[in-house]
Amino acid sequence: MQKTHWDVIILGAGAAGLLCAGEASRRGRRVLVVDHAAQPGAKIRVSGGGHCNVTNRNLGKEHYLSAHPGFCVAALRQFGADAMLERLAQAGIAVEERDGGQYFCQGSAQQVVALLLAACAAGRVTFSLGNAVQHAERTANGFTVQTRAGPVHGSALVVATGGLSFPKLGASDLGYRLARHWGLPVVPTRPALVPLRVAHTGFLAAESLAGVAVDACVRYQKTRFSGPLLFTHRGLSGPVVLQISSYWQIGESLQIDLAPGVELGQLFRQARLDHPRQEVATVLAGVLPKRLTQALVTHLGVTGRMAEVADTRLRQLVDAVHRWVVTPEGSEGYRTAEVTAGGVDTGILSPKTMECRTMPGLYFIGEVVDVTGQLGGYNLQWAWSSGYAAGQWV
Ligand SMILES: Cc1cc2nc3c(=O)[nH]c(=O)nc-3n(C[C@H](O)[C@H](O)[C@H](O)COP(=O)(O)OP(=O)(O)OC[C@H]3O[C@@H](n4cnc5c(N)ncnc54)[C@H](O)[C@@H]3O)c2cc1C
Repeated sequence: MQKTHWDVIILGAGAAGLLCAGEASRRGRRVLVVDHAAQPGAKIRVSGGGHCNVTNRNLGKEHYLSAHPGFCVAALRQFGADAMLERLAQAGIAVEERDGGQYFCQGSAQQVVALLLAACAAGRVTFSLGNAVQHAERTANGFTVQTRAGPVHGSALVVATGGLSFPKLGASDLGYRLARHWGLPVVPTRPALVPLRVAHTGFLAAESLAGVAVDACVRYQKTRFSGPLLFTHRGLSGPVVLQISSYWQIGESLQIDLAPGVELGQLFRQARLDHPRQEVATVLAGVLPKRLTQALVTHLGVTGRMAEVADTRLRQLVDAVHRWVVTPEGSEGYRTAEVTAGGVDTGILSPKTMECRTMPGLYFIGEVVDVTGQLGGYNLQWAWSSGYAAGQWV
C-alpha cells in the first residue's frame, strides 16, 4: 500500500463497501478499501445458503425496521431491485425468483463477489486486506485511519463495517465505536433474524421435537408472519421465527398457530360423526407431524377414541395447536443472528447521500446503519442501495 492521501477510504470490504468502492472509483475517485479479513465479501459468499438471496422484488419501507422508517426509501428508489438485477444480467449471472419475490443466484454467491470486484478493478480500487482498522480521527484535510499496518489518510471516510452478527465472518463493533467516539447517536443494537431459545416446558417437555418442522403463523403484537417453523434442541427456528425475532422484545410472548388454515375444532366435530372409533392422535396426525402430535396428546393427556374424549379436552387441544402462547427465554445471540438491528441513527445521515450531517466527509452505509431488513434479500439490497447512494457523492 503506497503512502498517499486517498480521495476515499472505505472501512469494510463487504456488500456495501464493495459496491460503494466500485461506484466512487467509476467517478474517478482514488479509493482505498481496508478490511481485516483476508478475502472480501465473506458474508455475501455464505448468504442465501451459498446462492445469495441478492434482492427482493417487493422493496418498500414496510420490510425494514428503523427508528426512522422512511429513511431507507430514497436510497432504495435510487438503486433498487431492478438496478441490481440488471447488473447481474449484464454480467451473465443467472437468477431465479422464489416465494415472496426473493431473487437468488442459480449458481454460486461467489459470482456476486466477482461482479463487485470487477467493478473495483475497473476503477483501480486499492485493497488493504488482512489489515485490522483500530481507530480513525478527523484531521484538517479529512481523516486519518489507524490500521494494524500503519496510518492511512483520506479526504472522505466511508464506514461500511457491518453489524455484530456472525463474528466468525469478521464482524466487529468498529463502526459503532467510531460513531460513539465522534458523539454520534447509535440506536441500541440487538441480534435480529435469529433463532429463539425456549424452555422445555409444556408439550416441549413431553418429547424431543428437534428437527420437526411445520407451517405456522407466528404473531407478536400486530406483527405476523406465516411460513416454516422448525423445532430445535434449544427452541425455535425457521423463517417465521427468524422474521418475528427482529420484532420480538425480551420478556414478551408470541402467539403461534401450528396449523394455520386448518379448522381443527371443525375437523374434530366431523371426525366424531364419521369416525367415532378413531383415536384422537390419529386425527391430529393427519394435520401435524407425528412427533408433535404425540407430544401434544401426551402433555394434555388427551388419549382415547373420538367418541370418548370430552369436548373440553378436545378444546384444550385445539387451543394448544391454534393458540400456543410461548415466552422465549432469549435469542441465540449474535453468533447465529443473520443481522444486527439498531445501529448508527439515521437522523444524523442524509437519506440521499448517507453523509453525516454534522461531519462532512463521513459516510455510514450498510448494516452498521439503523436500517434492518426482513428475511428475503432485503438486507443485501440495503447494502447495495446505501453503498450506491454514498458512491455517487463521496
Ligand atoms: C449467514 C448469513 C446469511 C445471510 N444471507 C443473506 C441473504 O441471502 N440475503 C440478504 O439480503 N442478507 C443476508 N444476510 C445479511 C447480509 O449478508 C448483511 O446484511 C450484509 O452483508 C451487510 O453488508 P455490509 O457491507 O454492511 O457488512 P458486511 O458484509 O458484514 O461487511 C463488513 C466488513 O467489515 C469488515 N470489518 C469489520 N470490522 C473491521 C475492522 N475492525 N477492521 C477491518 N475490517 C473490519 C468485515 O470483515 C467485513 O468484511 C446474511 C447474513 C448472514 C450472517
